Amino acid sequence: MKTIRVRGSDEEIPVGKILCLVRNYSKHAEEMQSEIPEHPVVFFKPATALIREGGDIIIPPISREVHHEVELVVAIAKEGKQIAESNAGEFILGYAVGLDMTLRDVQNEAKKKGLPWSVAKGFDTSAPVSEIIPASQVKSFPEMEMRCSVNGTLRQKIRAGSMVFSPEQIISYCSSLFTLERGDLIFTGTPEGVGKVQPGDTIEAELVNFTKINHRVMSALLT
Ligand code: MG
Repeated sequence: MKTIRVRGSDEEIPVGKILCLVRNYSKHAEEMQSEIPEHPVVFFKPATALIREGGDIIIPPISREVHHEVELVVAIAKEGKQIAESNAGEFILGYAVGLDMTLRDVQNEAKKKGLPWSVAKGFDTSAPVSEIIPASQVKSFPEMEMRCSVNGTLRQKIRAGSMVFSPEQIISYCSSLFTLERGDLIFTGTPEGVGKVQPGDTIEAELVNFTKINHRVMSALLT
């Protein structure tokens, strides 16, 4: 079973599910020619999609266009359902930086045909996630900055405070539909600047002043 670790702890926490938001930053919605939804829109990645620092991102043979999406990831501390927004903070174990790797060509084809995104978003290695920074160590959530560079060139940069739906709102909404459990991860959506990567590229995703991850992109055809 895939696990995550909190900085400063040796505990391997099993990951039951990975929830992901779409369109949680207005400029990314614009670049995808989409509207900001009225409530969070959620899809799943299987927990098997998770990789940790250093693991290779393997592009499956069905895709020729893979995009990076840097995202703030919220890790859930304990089981809960029907969580009120005002209580949601208690359910946040901590924060991580993650990459929602996306087979954009496969996703666009699925969108056109009204088919699910499971393959485009949930393939093995599609969810690199850093160690978890305990929520108690984050003094100002809105100031937290994420960055994504490819081969050393900055592609995405955003402060967490620019999100449309806050982690508390997302937890409240998601828990009205799905029981949340310790170790569940929520990818909170990507800002503008998503773009293509190719086999041989190196992606660095960073939660500035907290943690970063580096991953090489590989093609399944070449391994
Ligand atoms: Mg995303």
